[in-house]
Amino acid sequence: MSELFKKCRSDAEAHARAEYPRESCGLVVSVRGKPQYVPCRNQSDETDHFILHPEDYAAAEDLGDIVVIVHSHPDVGPEPSLHDLASHAVSRTTWWIVGLVNGVATWHEMPASGELALEGRVFVHGVIDCYTLVRDYYRQVLGITLMDFHRKDDWWNNGENLYVDNFTKAGFVQVDTPEQGDLIVMAIGSPTPCHGAIWLDGDVLLHHLYGRLSCKEVYGRAYRECTTHILRYKRAPS
Ligand SMILES: [Zn+2]
Repeated sequence: MSELFKKCRSDAEAHARAEYPRESCGLVVSVRGKPQYVPCRNQSDETDHFILHPEDYAAAEDLGDIVVIVHSHPDVGPEPSLHDLASHAVSRTTWWIVGLVNGVATWHEMPASGELALEGRVFVHGVIDCYTLVRDYYRQVLGITLMDFHRKDDWWNNGENLYVDNFTKAGFVQVDTPEQGDLIVMAIGSPTPCHGAIWLDGDVLLHHLYGRLSCKEVYGRAYRECTTHILRYKRAPS
């Protein structure tokens, strides 16, 4: 590890100890090329993953470039959980995990991996679909890790109603008027609300329709008429 990061490592370790037995999380921000550790609030109530508070993430982004995502593993080693592996894979950022076992800190580093851009993706059922785009937007742009759902091809025609059944669990509430980052749920080509899009300022949707590339487009009348729910993220999943 570069000398440059030594202070960040010791600051992150001190933070992990201070939060113990809770899981700590934070960011290393490069401020004009000088890395510094920024402790963040963990919004998750669960022990196997963390959710960076979006305000803390936004504040860190204002300071400089986010270069490392850090979290702790109280009482277990620093090896990534399945959740960590998946989240890391799509974060396009280096991760550090510090395990704290019997007061001894050990580190695991995961180099940044490639990540799909939000626009121009090819649709692959259940792997790269409209909800994958929603999750990636929340993670990359808002620093929020949304729960994932196992989904089969054509679930909306087979008695499943994944968006409607799960939005409360995933931390969303229904609202009347969309704001930046809200989730627009639509019934497109099916009576079941089966399509999710992100609403962006300027009345634009960022979404990924079956058989098309992911893209931004105007939230026009055709989409409004298919809309069944406008959802806003309010809290950590429960
Ligand atoms: Zn972890």
